[in-house]
Amino acid sequence: MGKKSKKALEKYRKKRDFRKTPEPQGKTSKNGGGPVFVIQKHLAQNLHYDFRLEVGGVLKSWAIPKGPSTDPGEKRLAVPTEDHPLDYAYFEGVIPEGHYGAGTVIVWDRGPYENITEQDGQEVSIEKAIEKGHVSVWLKGQKIKGGYALIRTGSGDDIRWLFIKMKDGEADARRNPVSTEPESVLTGKTIEEVGKEGTAE
Ligand code: MN
Repeated sequence: MGKKSKKALEKYRKKRDFRKTPEPQGKTSKNGGGPVFVIQKHLAQNLHYDFRLEVGGVLKSWAIPKGPSTDPGEKRLAVPTEDHPLDYAYFEGVIPEGHYGAGTVIVWDRGPYENITEQDGQEVSIEKAIEKGHVSVWLKGQKIKGGYALIRTGSGDDIRWLFIKMKDGEADARRNPVSTEPESVLTGKTIEEVGKEGTAE
């Protein structure tokens, strides 16, 4: 793994004891195809959805308390969290009690994505887009598809990011996949099922 992503994962590693948690340490900074996104359902102290985008050998991450919406009229709060290793995109399991993020994680959706951020008709790199707080991506998941914007608003203590469906052919205000399609796209299991198996071991 490159020096840059090693450094980027320092925060991630510091928070975790890899003798105790089944989460990946992060051994790879490359995958076979193009960049991927993942949305993990995480039943910790509070249920939330972790949205992660592959950028520069790591997964840039935001916690979305209510999960993604397919309705362009719904703005979802997205709280930035530490960069995660690429292999986290495959992680599903139980983080033991007393450890950071304790609870159950499933891969709720995953797929390739394209950076479609533009400014004044010019393409903007995903790194630059995140730095500027104005990101547009095209997601090709099984549940979540089409354009999404990640926008940083406010200033100082009031900085917040919003995750918003763009108005395109994949927008659908009637869908609510967070409640109607709760299962893992990896195993078809619910978070409750994965949680039960994990604690029975
Ligand atoms: Mn989380």
